[in-house]
Amino acid sequence: MLYSIREQTSRTILSRTSGFLLAAGFTHSLTPARNCTFGCSYCYVPTMRVQGGLRMEDWRHWGHHTTFKANAAALLRRELRPEQVIYCSPLTDPYQPAEAERRLMPEVLAAVAANPPKVFVLQTRGPLILRDLALLQAIPRLRSRFSVTTDDEAVRQRFEPHCAPIAERLQVIRTLRAAGLRVHATLAPLLPCDAGRLAAMALEATEEDVIGDPLHVRSDKPRGATTREAGLRLMERYPDFDVAAALGTIEHAIVRAGRRFGTGPDAFGWLTTPP
Ligand code: SF4
Repeated sequence: MLYSIREQTSRTILSRTSGFLLAAGFTHSLTPARNCTFGCSYCYVPTMRVQGGLRMEDWRHWGHHTTFKANAAALLRRELRPEQVIYCSPLTDPYQPAEAERRLMPEVLAAVAANPPKVFVLQTRGPLILRDLALLQAIPRLRSRFSVTTDDEAVRQRFEPHCAPIAERLQVIRTLRAAGLRVHATLAPLLPCDAGRLAAMALEATEEDVIGDPLHVRSDKPRGATTREAGLRLMERYPDFDVAAALGTIEHAIVRAGRRFGTGPDAFGWLTTPP
């Protein structure tokens, strides 16, 4: 996707959590940019509009541009505290494609390593994370989450064409793990898949508990963030995909392997304990 990169300076960088993140046990979130150049069809962030800190051009043109918070590292040096439990990031992917050019995350991670919080959780689907491996290794009590949404490459291309192929993501997880990082496979949002095969992939690539989440639909979630219209339209092409049955199959396989599988804030909360 063609995208443009913008910058702004922010007044603060750590936000106090509410809702899902607060219920899971996170005290703060860190969002290094506004808008995400992965532009996934199902992304819930643009549906949050001003509540997600967005401007109209962001939710109307999701993925077409991103605005980096240029002073993020300087703000972090002021705002980090040892008791914080930080999630990075609920509103963009820190390793979105534009990060390859802007290179904001090395400064951010260096600031976190210099003043480490109680727990720092980094969520991404971007293989670019490997560029910063040495910086990640310098952060104590780091957990990373890497999204694997389906085992089916055709489904992946349809729903998230600007994200890396599934095989590459699994290889990134293995590399992070081999480097000594605690890395969780995140099966979220769960896209049409062979659930048994996806569970086996997650088990093989990681050593940790596995966390999942279905696509959020308005009928199940009357308020707050929900799936983008583009993602819902794509789901209509898979009328036989039974998400409840798929989650059941995954849970059965993961539990049989001696690990935990869960969805929602309770499972998300597993990440908030120091590794
Ligand atoms: S990577 Fe995450 S934040 Fe970025 S568009 Fe996809 S779902 Fe949204």
